[in-house]
Amino acid sequence: MADTVKIGIIICDRYRNCAGGKCFRALNRREGGFSIYKNKEVEVVGYTTCGGCPGGNIEYAPEEMKKNGAQVIHFATGFVVGYPPCPYIDYFKSYIEKKFGIEVVIGTHPIPEKYYTVHEKLGTWNGLEWKEKLRYVICDEEKRREYD
Ligand code: SF4
Repeated sequence: MADTVKIGIIICDRYRNCAGGKCFRALNRREGGFSIYKNKEVEVVGYTTCGGCPGGNIEYAPEEMKKNGAQVIHFATGFVVGYPPCPYIDYFKSYIEKKFGIEVVIGTHPIPEKYYTVHEKLGTWNGLEWKEKLRYVICDEEKRREYD
């Protein structure tokens, strides 16, 4: 039997009403941020929002997820596609990794093409640091269109 990885998902509170459709589709297809689990079983052990700016729930949610065995926490793609993207991504990632010892992966589903187009025009993701942040979710145009 394949290894099972337990994960938690934290979404940007601006999208708090999101039912997770794109995230769970991407998980089932092992696309975007979930492409790292190509040959693994995945169990979602927590799903919540950051709690709203400036992300108060980041202090508490990982602990609950850890109690359920979370080994990896994904920041949903909304963190990077919001207008503007979350300004606290680096701090949150570092905090969770250092305090809870849980790896953080930026991104869940592939970036929808409609967000990609606007951010390209805005120059939001210019700069090397974004290359790393978007590495799993930038995908190709065909894939991005599937998530519009
Ligand atoms: S921008 Fe960041 S801190 Fe603000 S609601 Fe979104 S994820 Fe939370």
